[in-house]
Amino acid sequence: METLLADAVARSPGETEFHQAVAEVAESLVPVIDRHPRYREQRILDRLIEPERVIMFRVPWVDDHGEIHVNRGYRIEMSSAIGPYKGGLRFHPSVYLGLLMFLAFEQVFKNALTTLPMGGGKGGSDFDPKGRSDLEVMRFCQSFMTELQRHIGPFTDVPAGDIGVGSREIGYLFGQYKRIRNEFSGVLTGKELEWGGSLIRPEATGYGTVYFAEEMLETRGEGIEGKTCLVSGSGNVAQYAVEKLIMLGAKPVTLSDSDGFVHDPDGIDDEKLQWVMDLKNVRRGRILEYAERFPRATYTPTIPEGRNRLWAVPADCAFPCATQNEISGDDAATLVANGVVLVAEGANMPTVPEGVDRFREAGVLYGPGKAANAGGVAVSGLEMSQDALRITWTREEVDLRLRGIMASIHRTCRETAEEYDAPGDYVVGANIAGFVKVAEAMLDQGIV
Ligand code: GLU
Repeated sequence: METLLADAVARSPGETEFHQAVAEVAESLVPVIDRHPRYREQRILDRLIEPERVIMFRVPWVDDHGEIHVNRGYRIEMSSAIGPYKGGLRFHPSVYLGLLMFLAFEQVFKNALTTLPMGGGKGGSDFDPKGRSDLEVMRFCQSFMTELQRHIGPFTDVPAGDIGVGSREIGYLFGQYKRIRNEFSGVLTGKELEWGGSLIRPEATGYGTVYFAEEMLETRGEGIEGKTCLVSGSGNVAQYAVEKLIMLGAKPVTLSDSDGFVHDPDGIDDEKLQWVMDLKNVRRGRILEYAERFPRATYTPTIPEGRNRLWAVPADCAFPCATQNEISGDDAATLVANGVVLVAEGANMPTVPEGVDRFREAGVLYGPGKAANAGGVAVSGLEMSQDALRITWTREEVDLRLRGIMASIHRTCRETAEEYDAPGDYVVGANIAGFVKVAEAMLDQGIV
């Protein structure tokens, strides 16, 4: 494992998030590789950490003042062992190869856990949609898709949204794909309902994370009702995590963006959530405005490089739904000291390795992102099925399937952890179960 990690670092220098994701998975896989010598002989993990294909391209576009900008576009096609490449696109200034390598790597395991036939991929750009007009975003998306379209397709690679890519961007991307390829197909997921989208897709990641949390709590004979919950982020995942928490009688008390967080001691109710949805999705404003609108709430600006004070708010459960590495080792220690019983990750890899260790040592119910946030891509898989069948399932039907998938991921994690002598350890369970499914497919398909 040490040689494998050293190889990954040497081959992908400076890609720290990718190294972090590989190290975390590799550590859990030691017992499974010991038990199945064929995985080692066939160099399964060495093959898995090398993407099948990486596409990098220039994305030139013109802003509203006639000025020319050049961004970089990416698509990482990590693994197609169990289905077409599948995973989101992220538009954010922090995007670079290493970030997308980590996300694509995580996606392979996550998608395998969903029980649906999807391989893993990820893409995006260092384009910053913040402060850009609709027309600028449209021109960027069209330029991005003009190149990407030659690499993707409903049987090859099916992108979706992620940070900075919501239904507006998916619409522009889809329009350009259709125009160039002269083909109306399920090449993207997260589409609007009227043109091939699925009900519950916008809600899926947030709802799924809360369903996973319910499953975890149930193992201790507890429920989510009445629990005070910290939620970070204020985008799609956070919004629907809060909505589901309210529906189940829990009390979400925080939301955040990159500038700071709000704490509402009265709890965020339906009416306040509707206001937040309008603020973020329509007016595209900042979370600071929440505290101006609801004066009982307090706003705390982000301290650069400092401890994130959101995690110091006393609560029972934590739902990090913002971004990677948002919970430091110290934040995790604070959460544990405050008696938090559950952490369910709506974001991808929001906890640094030291923080994960703290949660596991303290016996916190800790649901890692690749299990707890798999509901989003799972409903993307259901959107692909509906597109292929040319039918639309009802809200109830999709929600029921989502619940079933989250329960099954939870069961698989528990059973696998048990089998490998780590009862209750969802990190071990998720990594091993996801890996074994992909590894078996790779064995069947030869050295490709
Ligand atoms: N970006 C989401 C994720 O991290 C969804 C991907 C998809 O629906 O393809 O899983």
